[in-house]
Amino acid sequence: MSIAPQMDTVTDGAAGTVDRHATTRTFESTDPATGAVVGIFPVHDTDAVAETVNRARAAAQQWAELGFDGRRQRLNAYRGYLARRLHELADLVHRENGKPHADAILEITLAIDHLAWAAGHARKALGPRRVKTGLLAANHAAYLEYQPLGVVGVIGPWNYPVFTPVGSIAYALAAGNAVVFKPSEYTPAVGAWLAAAWRAAVPDAEDAVQVVTGDGSTGAALCRAGVGKIAFTGSAATGKKVMATCAETLTPVLMELGGKDAMIVDDDADVVAAADAAVWGAMSNAGQTCIGIERVYATSAVYDRFVAEVTAQVRKLRPGSDDEATYGPMTMPSQIDVVRRHVQDAATAGAQVITGGSDPDSSPGENYVAPTVLLDVPEDSLAVREETFGPTLTITRVRDAEEALERTNATSYGLAGSIFSGSSKKALDLARRMRSGMTSINSVLTFASVPALPFGGVGESGFGRIHGEDGLKEFTRSKSITRQRFALPGGNLTSFSRPANAADGLARVIGIVHGRHR
Ligand code: NAD
Repeated sequence: MSIAPQMDTVTDGAAGTVDRHATTRTFESTDPATGAVVGIFPVHDTDAVAETVNRARAAAQQWAELGFDGRRQRLNAYRGYLARRLHELADLVHRENGKPHADAILEITLAIDHLAWAAGHARKALGPRRVKTGLLAANHAAYLEYQPLGVVGVIGPWNYPVFTPVGSIAYALAAGNAVVFKPSEYTPAVGAWLAAAWRAAVPDAEDAVQVVTGDGSTGAALCRAGVGKIAFTGSAATGKKVMATCAETLTPVLMELGGKDAMIVDDDADVVAAADAAVWGAMSNAGQTCIGIERVYATSAVYDRFVAEVTAQVRKLRPGSDDEATYGPMTMPSQIDVVRRHVQDAATAGAQVITGGSDPDSSPGENYVAPTVLLDVPEDSLAVREETFGPTLTITRVRDAEEALERTNATSYGLAGSIFSGSSKKALDLARRMRSGMTSINSVLTFASVPALPFGGVGESGFGRIHGEDGLKEFTRSKSITRQRFALPGGNLTSFSRPANAADGLARVIGIVHGRHR
């Protein structure tokens, strides 16, 4: 069964559950390789978004009441459904985002793994528990639990149209929330497919996941719709707008924003492995990866060998849209101008520009950017300071790993990074001091494939975490309860009828317990 939207038809993101008459505007999503229309979608306006959120609110209560086991069962049914239709979804991702089919499979596989982890670990991370009461409330029992927020609004980007939103959706659902998802206007068909798949796999809680489609105006309407939280993934510039809109209603936000991730290659690193990882980290998905490697700092001891190896590997890459292509077109046409501006700015400042690609003369089209390596780029250039989000890589010679770390950390972003070193001890020390939310040693991007590890950044890369226990807690509010087990024989301290000497007695006990600490 194909539930992918058909060309030429207006596809309702919520598949018939939103009144189509509530919105009149539509937009097209197109294949970035060919320009062919993938689907036509409604721009959900304020009323349509409010209506969808209301329906989700009703569903949220039933979803929460299913409890951890009931939700796990249904999340497992969803992941089974995705796994059985992996190729169908990968084909849609390929058509709408442009990435190679094999990369789409990798992305969906990661999302399925996260669904499994979130479903399987929610009870342990969030389930009700008793905690110790301590001295002052020794006659009470204390209970802690993590309650769902109700409806979580998820606003997503186009670069990983499955993995990125599912990183929020899976954890929000496992924590007991319903979700209203606003996919990027560049990948609405994938968003609609994911929601339709939910309805097919989980028919008895079909309204727990819904999709609204449209541009930034639909996203802003979702921010104003009174949801329990907005999980936003996108650029820092849009993140600031989302925060400002959410501030109007004090709606809490999770911010997963851009990055300018660096790799450090130390004296004793495996240079071939580091080059392989840097090229993949920089060029896969046409460089449109929030945790992609955009800068490398290689020590003098390895710099020449590293540059030679990267150059050799980059020459073998071949952008295109066929099955053997190494990466696809740029998904968002306007990003091509950003990439060109960064490369031009570096070249003007004296950088050496190495353009790779197995056949640079036969670019498959204007939507493609050839793999580009930039050497000797001044640190104040756009290509070093700002997110390029294209298949480019700067390589800079540094004295040693300390200088590499200093330069790595000298950015407003702080999403992730990578360290290649022969010494685990030194690499771990550098990783801890790297100003980023995540770091992989002797590999790139690996933390994203470990569901138990939280994912998120610092600085302009955002705040809050998806994935892992932190990711589950992100979509809950803690609830604290105490229950008096018995009345204190000497009287209650928090009562106007307490004995006159109660405070003196308390001061004596505190002196004995805490006073000895110096
Ligand atoms: P974007 O900021 O342009 O758009 C993201 C989403 O926000 C889209 O759905 C868009 O329609 C919506 N939006 C736009 N204006 C809005 C507004 N005023 N109010 C509410 N929503 C609005 O980002 P993009 O181009 O889709 O994605 C690329 C960016 O996302 C890059 O910066 C990349 O690094 C980042 N990203 C971050 C992560 C992460 O986990 N940290 C993951 C993937 C992508």
